[in-house]
Amino acid sequence: MTPDKQEIFDARQLYSGLIRLHILHHAGKEEIFGLGMIEELARHGYKLSPGTLYPILHGLEDNGLLRSHEQSIGGKIRRVYRATSAGEKVLIAAKEKVRELFGELFEDEDVTQLPRTRSRLVALQAANYRRQSTAKVAL
Ligand SMILES: [Zn+2]
Repeated sequence: MTPDKQEIFDARQLYSGLIRLHILHHAGKEEIFGLGMIEELARHGYKLSPGTLYPILHGLEDNGLLRSHEQSIGGKIRRVYRATSAGEKVLIAAKEKVRELFGELFEDEDVTQLPRTRSRLVALQAANYRRQSTAKVAL
């Protein structure tokens, strides 16, 4: 296995739980469907083919976390999914775990300092820019 392939393989394993949580999160809020979810996940940087996503949806449904029915939209049949109450419970428990992990992953980084640091940097750049343009005018 090349190092690249190893990297992709590991990343997929790591992200598979995140993808399932993401699906559950949206299905808890509204009806979701395969292609819409593929687009939503792509927006977050997860590129999934229908061949990958659909088995995930079916697996979540088989486990009782999602429930689906067919819906006719403009003559086209689309299968839509919603979280079941069991799915919502799992999501609530998982969110707590994510919160805890998030805290630990970022405990060395002072997240609250980030916006201030960034605006301080912008202010510094602006000050430099002003200084440079004043210097040009002075020349
Ligand atoms: Zn999302």
